Amino acid sequence: MFIDFHTHPLNHRYYYDGLQPAALTERDKADIRGLLAQGVERGLDAIAVTDHDLALSGLWAADEARRLGLPITVIAGCECELYHRGEWVHILALGLKEPLVYTPYTPAADLAARIHAQGALAVLAHPMAYGPAAYHSLKAVVDGVEYRNGAQARRGAADFTAVLDADGYRGLRLCGSDSHWPDEPAREQWEARTEMGEEEFLRLFGVKL
Ligand SMILES: [Zn+2]
Ligand SMILES: [Zn+2]
Repeated sequence: MFIDFHTHPLNHRYYYDGLQPAALTERDKADIRGLLAQGVERGLDAIAVTDHDLALSGLWAADEARRLGLPITVIAGCECELYHRGEWVHILALGLKEPLVYTPYTPAADLAARIHAQGALAVLAHPMAYGPAAYHSLKAVVDGVEYRNGAQARRGAADFTAVLDADGYRGLRLCGSDSHWPDEPAREQWEARTEMGEEEFLRLFGVKL
């Protein structure tokens, strides 16, 4: 089973201006459908839809994939930006049932508790972008770490495996493309995905692929 655990169908549309929409527009929906079609083309069995601080697109994508009978399972999520110990860090929420309530100043442990309250998982996104200090202060808070990220690989950042191995990290290790639709995905992003068995996916997300 191949899963991309990190995607942005709405690119940066609602990210930089901080204005979250109450409802998706027709253009938003068309872009989400485009990303899902590309996921099928990439040979993915599942895809996490994780827009910046926005769960609406992932929740809608999951319903839409089911409604259309697409051959791809959607994990609804979002990528939460927090100010943590003097730097901006990103935490992926995977498997949301409803939008999360938080601000950039919500402590990471509180955010993780809110994610867990929905039966979802908290994953530290692209730790190679911040350096080991963020990883070491957050590793006990999150369920997993994005050991490889397509957008970071495209910028030449090495994956985080060596740090995780040296630390004996035993949590989940996930890989995502971090592709921003409809940007032309670079090869590093097109191929970035996690290989996972059906049973593990079922155990983590309660969904049979
Ligand atoms: Zn990020
Ligand atoms: Zn991202």
